[in-house]
Amino acid sequence: MTKQNTSPRASLPSVDRLLCREEADALIAAYGRPALADAIRGVLANLRAALGTKDTPNDMTETSIMNRVSNRLTEESRPSLRPVFNLTGTVLHTNLGRAALPAEAIEAVAIAARGASNLEYDLAGGRRGDRDAHLEEQLCRLTGAEAATVVNNNAAAVLLVLNSLALRKEVPTSRGELIEIGGSFRMPDIMARSGCRLREVGTTNRTHLSDYEAAIGPKTGLVMKVHTSNYAIEGFTATVPESELARLCHDRGVPFAVDLGSGTLIDLRKFGLPHEPTPAESLASSADVVTFSGDKLLGGPQAGIIVGRASIVKKIKRNPMKRALRVDKMTIAALSAVLNLYADPDHLVERLPTLRALARPVEEIRKMAERLRVSLAVGLNSLASVEVINCDSQVGSGALPTQRIPSAGLAIRPATERRGSGTALQRLAAAFRSLPIPVIGRLQEGALILDFRCLEDEAAFAAQLSALALSETPAR
Ligand SMILES: *Cc1c(COP(=O)(O)O)cnc(C)c1O
Repeated sequence: MTKQNTSPRASLPSVDRLLCREEADALIAAYGRPALADAIRGVLANLRAALGTKDTPNDMTETSIMNRVSNRLTEESRPSLRPVFNLTGTVLHTNLGRAALPAEAIEAVAIAARGASNLEYDLAGGRRGDRDAHLEEQLCRLTGAEAATVVNNNAAAVLLVLNSLALRKEVPTSRGELIEIGGSFRMPDIMARSGCRLREVGTTNRTHLSDYEAAIGPKTGLVMKVHTSNYAIEGFTATVPESELARLCHDRGVPFAVDLGSGTLIDLRKFGLPHEPTPAESLASSADVVTFSGDKLLGGPQAGIIVGRASIVKKIKRNPMKRALRVDKMTIAALSAVLNLYADPDHLVERLPTLRALARPVEEIRKMAERLRVSLAVGLNSLASVEVINCDSQVGSGALPTQRIPSAGLAIRPATERRGSGTALQRLAAAFRSLPIPVIGRLQEGALILDFRCLEDEAAFAAQLSALALSETPAR
């Protein structure tokens, strides 16, 4: 059993020996000696395990081992959070980071990140200041609100509004508006965690003013209207306009809150999209407080924006939970820079990536698809067919859920697809995902669809196609 002294196992070099090789110097400089030693141990362990199996590598020279070590270190040191090409056709894709920031905001973030700032410091008075001061004026100007405050995201904004205004009290809300946003944001759960009691009013499809009238009483803390941002109820429906609900609430002395979800600061009809409610409209309808996201249609950083009556916002800011939900200086810098762009609406579509993507003419996208079809056909090396198609983009992230925006892209179909098996298609999608800048498309009717509405850097996309490691064997 033990006469295998000449086995390749015995011939694997030692860790120390490899650490003394010339290639090690550059790797130590780049990654440090402990990381290099770990990587060598890892590679040697893998080789040892593969010896004598069908996976035994045929090249086991020290040079080739050091190459493996170098590749392993490159892979291990790659950040987990990486840029990808969002070719899903969903412009504001929550899983892919929602809004891309404009250059002005990115620059503002870098400046804020680099060193000290007057984040909470009143430069005129030389004393402690308020971090909301950097945004409040802009937000009030753009929405018509008396006061504003900003928290980590809109889920936090809703939580804070509920907890500040209706702790241990009832919150009448229409049954048609008890939304779930992807990733466990469910209005009934948020209400419970905010310490409020949800009081459902009306029915799924119809809610009347009289339903609210009957529900409001001494236990009511707040009446809440939620924008049905990711679905539409159609057919025999009735909802109560915000202005009527506001009047009822004020007659009964309870505050009225509107959660808009997306909330845009401009009239989207100017860009050929349907109207999406704005915070200014809700406030003009006499809502006391309105919440909306910073990284949905607004096109800024992740944030939850709360605007409304001064007395109400003051109460919200005094809640100790505000401290736990507050935004950092980089978010403030980015949001302020984005809001600044809204001061010049005529140039907004060129400067704000979200709006630019939504308003992009379909002919322009189609021309790009035609150009890229050629590069892609070469990269795919006849292992798949590539066809220019018309497709539909959508806004995403709970805005205009039923709206389809005509777009164009490519449909890629594996040549070897066996009927119904789908594995070649999965492999194709995986190959695109394993590119240096992963490409995320969508699978539809046996094809990988790449919608080019959100592709801005066409050259970078085309440049990496030659790395498509598509073969008959599974991609990594
Ligand atoms: C998206 C959305 C939220 C949650 O906002 P986040 O910014 O994702 O936290 C809350 N309410 C509505 C109506 C929404 O559309």
